[in-house]
Amino acid sequence: MQGLMMDTPLLISSILRHADRNFPEREIVSVTIDNPDHRYTYRDCFRRTRQLANAFVKLGLKQGDRVATIAWNDYRHLETYYALGGSGFVCHTINPRLFPDQITFMINHAEDRWVLTDPAFVPLLESIVDATPNVEGYVVLTDDAHMPATTLPNAISYESFIANESSDFEWPNLDENAAVGLCYTSGTTGDPKGVLYSNRSSVLHAYAGVAPDVLNLSNKDCVLPVVPLFHVNAWGTPYAALLAGSKLVFPGPKMGDGEALFHLLENETVTLALGVPTIWMALLQYAKSVGKKLESLDRTIIGGAAVPETMIREFFEEHDVVVRQGWGMTEMSPLGTANSPKAGMEKLSQEEKFKIQVKQGRAIFGVEMKIVDDDGNELPWDGKAFGALRVRGPWICSDYYKLAGSGGAHYDGWFDTGDVATIDEQGYMTITDRTKDVIKSGGEWISSIEIENTAVGHPSVAEAAVIGIAHPKWTERPLLIVVRVEDQQVTTEELLAWLQGKLAKWWMPEDVVFVDEIPHTATGKIKKTELRKQFVGYRLPT
Ligand code: ADP
Repeated sequence: MQGLMMDTPLLISSILRHADRNFPEREIVSVTIDNPDHRYTYRDCFRRTRQLANAFVKLGLKQGDRVATIAWNDYRHLETYYALGGSGFVCHTINPRLFPDQITFMINHAEDRWVLTDPAFVPLLESIVDATPNVEGYVVLTDDAHMPATTLPNAISYESFIANESSDFEWPNLDENAAVGLCYTSGTTGDPKGVLYSNRSSVLHAYAGVAPDVLNLSNKDCVLPVVPLFHVNAWGTPYAALLAGSKLVFPGPKMGDGEALFHLLENETVTLALGVPTIWMALLQYAKSVGKKLESLDRTIIGGAAVPETMIREFFEEHDVVVRQGWGMTEMSPLGTANSPKAGMEKLSQEEKFKIQVKQGRAIFGVEMKIVDDDGNELPWDGKAFGALRVRGPWICSDYYKLAGSGGAHYDGWFDTGDVATIDEQGYMTITDRTKDVIKSGGEWISSIEIENTAVGHPSVAEAAVIGIAHPKWTERPLLIVVRVEDQQVTTEELLAWLQGKLAKWWMPEDVVFVDEIPHTATGKIKKTELRKQFVGYRLPT
């Protein structure tokens, strides 16, 4: 027997309608190049979003057509998300930090018809205009007064683009599986691959995101997504925050600026901020240098890379801020796990709590996960067995865009994350490595992430990366690569002595090298492929 409930499609336009009706007075604050303190309400935002939707329809876009954005986090970018996705078009977000040839590949592969860009990226787009001949025009996210001179064809300022449009727009009643957003994985090997989010997956992901054990979002919150709108939908905050009616603060181009972030957090009384670990290093360093405490921030969601214990401690001990680690990936919209305490854990000592907080967290409802051995056999949740981490759920990619059968749910409906992990008895998952970064020593796996996390606990270590170096007896041995804190002179011997006892004996790095800089990907992760190239043929001490 079928239930007798309405078959209402799950559409992102329904989030917008709900937020407009229930929280019209809620504020959205942005830093933009043309206005460092732009503030307006949800009501203004949705009025302009409807104008923008009308402008897109006038361009002659058809359902499913892609339009690219290449922009920082601000209110115009948010309006674009909803105007495109809500009308049945696809918002293709592009990371401006990628190489021009990667951006060219993405625009051409996605067949983007128009591009919306911040003024700052106009020269970049001009440099690839001949290689992207199918783009019909460019909307520059500013007003006429700040419009840069440009040779881009059909370039128009955003404010002119929407100025004469009606603010009435009937959001179409789409199929809930209609695509809403497109984001390419950075593709450290091979071409980038497109992940295509649907209305349904985005709404379900937003429902899951607001839950107490995940982002714990409500109308009372003020949210600062430092994670970019071009990186997996700023982890879903444009949908989750509006669904909850939270105030939003967008840092625009000030993303990596510790001082600017500190003032935004304080002045806007932000309660939740989200971002990758590198961003928070800049913020914590600034706060320390001026001896100030973060007064309003309640919690941070940190993910995208492992969060060092020292960071969790510093947030808690210096600022009374709880770090909640999250893990996920572009293919997962991105939320997979969140690290919140279970009942009874409040009795643990603070030291024991820190030990749990460094784990990547428990599966959130909607995501099933398991770890498997090389033959695909499921491994126990005992906190010891390492295996390839596989996931499935309604916001996990089933196939890459235009690459049918390429790699989504390849393993009996499960998606292989490319991560290696353990899961403990309580369900807390710990990433030990990317499959391709795992170090095999004497037939056993060594976790490069754990060595890195331990090494950054040393006060003279600013950043650490571990790669495997070929070894005649053990196949591979770990090499620790370190960037020292400025003016600190720690030596190889001192660092190795300090690591003794903190790592299993056979996990101890075989050698330590000091470098000025560790290479990063466009999303701020350590670029191990590059490091392996730099250290190819490196001879370990005998
Ligand atoms: P890309 O694939 O472009 O590098 P993603 O953001 O999709 O970008 O990266 C996802 C990967 O990042 C995960 O598979 C995992 O390896 C790593 N990652 C994400 N969050 C964490 C975390 N909290 N701890 C450790 N690694 C993480």
